[in-house]
Amino acid sequence: MRLLLGRYLNRTWEVRGKRVREKAEARYLGVELIGGEEGGINSVEENVKKVASVIGMAKFAAKRSGSRFVVGREAWKSLIVSRVMYASGALVWNENVRKNVERMQSEYGRWMWRLERTVRNAAVHGESGWSSFWEREVKAKVAFVVRVLEEDLLVARVGGACLMEIGMRSKWWKKIGKMTEELGVDVLSNLVWLRRMSAIGVAEMGICEDERKRMRKVELERRVQEVGRMRWEEQLQRNERTRRYAQEKREMKLELYADGQDGAGVRLMMRGDCLPVRMNECVRWKYGEDERRCTCGEEETERHVLFECVLYERLREEWLRRWREERGEEDLVEGVLGFAVTSADLERLVLRSVGKIWKERKRREREKDRGQGPGLTFVRE
Ligand SMILES: [Zn+2]
Repeated sequence: MRLLLGRYLNRTWEVRGKRVREKAEARYLGVELIGGEEGGINSVEENVKKVASVIGMAKFAAKRSGSRFVVGREAWKSLIVSRVMYASGALVWNENVRKNVERMQSEYGRWMWRLERTVRNAAVHGESGWSSFWEREVKAKVAFVVRVLEEDLLVARVGGACLMEIGMRSKWWKKIGKMTEELGVDVLSNLVWLRRMSAIGVAEMGICEDERKRMRKVELERRVQEVGRMRWEEQLQRNERTRRYAQEKREMKLELYADGQDGAGVRLMMRGDCLPVRMNECVRWKYGEDERRCTCGEEETERHVLFECVLYERLREEWLRRWREERGEEDLVEGVLGFAVTSADLERLVLRSVGKIWKERKRREREKDRGQGPGLTFVRE
């Protein structure tokens, strides 16, 4: 039987007259087992610790590649997520670890989009088309349970025995029970609570064909996505703008406009109502009453900077003209949010213009910070 593969340690044991050689590490049921005194099952904490350095490398490589956004996003999915998730179906995640990796994902996302810390996580998450680690963990665990339930192969049977062995009150079982309840898949949660892991157990419960279908992996994954979506929408109940974003957002996938450029960042921030202009709720607390003005002297609101401020007039001339031609009196904000369906040319023009305006606004803020007074330099194109 070749279930256990791996390197040998040099230790040899005698068991009932047979010689057994201990292994340094082995993979068993998708779990990495480490031999020796410090051995055991590699925990998710270990996975997470290991990825910290990989994140640095991914960022470095993405920057060097010249397309930080595309390469950075790919590296996140292929290098980092897979390492964190390694064997996670069989492992217990504690809440802190999960929060920690969700935070890592948000931070990485902000780095990819070049956004400030005040930008809402839900917007970065939604526009990057990422799953949360909650979704990923539930999918991995559910797949593990279903595999053990549905398959009658040796590995599944051994898996079943192992799951029983972990003990009824173990954290792992509690977690699985809680997850299946959250998903609202009653049959699966009943099976789990009753530990009916064997084919006979399943048969005894009298599960009908329909219920069996609901327990299939694809169905369960769809359900995980639905619940994940609901959890995401809950984070966006703050105001009218964010609620609208939650509503208008269709699939949780990477948006077509997303290219890591300034304009795309502006749209993302607008959708999440977190463009850090001084009057915006998300950053207003940072500024005193007398600090909430634009360098031109007006109150610095989102509309002021993007549509009205004289400092950026030249940067929006063409955009405004073309917008009026194509969309008449329609609110400019619809174009920036990208909820209005415009011609491809106009769409590009909108993003390019707001990108330039925002870049210029950031430059002025930097100058202000350096104490060079209000940015009275002319706008360069
Ligand atoms: Zn102004």
